[in-house]
Amino acid sequence: MKSDNASTSIAALLPTLKQLFEGSGTMVCLYNEADTLVYANTIFYELTALPPGSLPHWRDLIRENHRSNKGLLIETDDIEDWLARAEQRRRSVPHRQFEIDTVDGRWILMSETVIPNVGILGVGVDITRAKHTTTILQHEYQQALVEAETDALTRMGNRRALDRLRRLLTLNGQNRVISALMIDIDWFKPYNDSLGHLQGDECLRTIADVIRSGFRSEEAYPLRIGGEEFLILMVDADLQSATQVARRILRNIRARAIPHPASEVGHVTLSIGVASGTVTDDASISTLLDEADKALYQSKHTGRDQVTLAS
Ligand code: GH3
Ligand code: MG
Ligand code: MG
Repeated sequence: MKSDNASTSIAALLPTLKQLFEGSGTMVCLYNEADTLVYANTIFYELTALPPGSLPHWRDLIRENHRSNKGLLIETDDIEDWLARAEQRRRSVPHRQFEIDTVDGRWILMSETVIPNVGILGVGVDITRAKHTTTILQHEYQQALVEAETDALTRMGNRRALDRLRRLLTLNGQNRVISALMIDIDWFKPYNDSLGHLQGDECLRTIADVIRSGFRSEEAYPLRIGGEEFLILMVDADLQSATQVARRILRNIRARAIPHPASEVGHVTLSIGVASGTVTDDASISTLLDEADKALYQSKHTGRDQVTLAS
């Protein structure tokens, strides 16, 4: 009879399994075809928090870990449903690999192999350290991505952020109304020349703060795109609301009254150009930025400290 043969062959295997795997750092377990544990090494009992030498049915092992909240982490409110689902997967393919974690926070990479007429051989490797390293690296990578798109001085987005924004804004051919506010500090070279570069940097930070607090909309992206040039892209905002923002920023900068010894008015001022349009593709964003730039140029050449709208 098949089952007799199977149990005979498993019994014959046991001394070898013990000899090979008892002291192994890898978890090894063998279930027979009825899914009762027939062999497990020391580390298996440690990871599953079962009494050493016990040979439960697989279902009872899982039930016990779930009930006692020890050993393997089984997160479910309905353990029988969990078991039914897991059992479906258990013998679905000859070889499966999956990760499980333990209640005490370890990660195990499990490999299960279905061995015809024998059962299931399980091998588990502790990958906790590798997992931690991966988690840290993922976090570092995310941070590096953010840093790469952030201007270190003002913490605003930089030109790389602008490039990505341009790609996002023209994704899926969405026709959105976008306004661009191009902002440039007036007489900033003389500011640096009279107060020094460090004070210049401090001034840039203050101006960045004023710009940031000049709008409420969630869909406005302030960027530092040049040494003393800023851009705000406002999504779904028409020329009128963008102009309001521009005027508010000018007012707020005047109110700050940052002393500027080399400027006629005695404090730092800004020039702004505003343009608005429906953006369909990257070329239309270029056009929009060009128009905002021209309007800014106009502000510069007609007295500075003012907002000009693109015609
Ligand atoms: P305008 O009113 O026509 O804009 O005159 P401006 O002097 O502001 O313009 P210009 O383009 O001639 O000079 C820009 C100056 O900005 C040059 C440099 O001294 C200063 N600048 C650019 N980047 C930085 C920076 O990162 N830190 C500091 N402190 N100054 C910067
Ligand atoms: Mg400039
Ligand atoms: Mg300037």
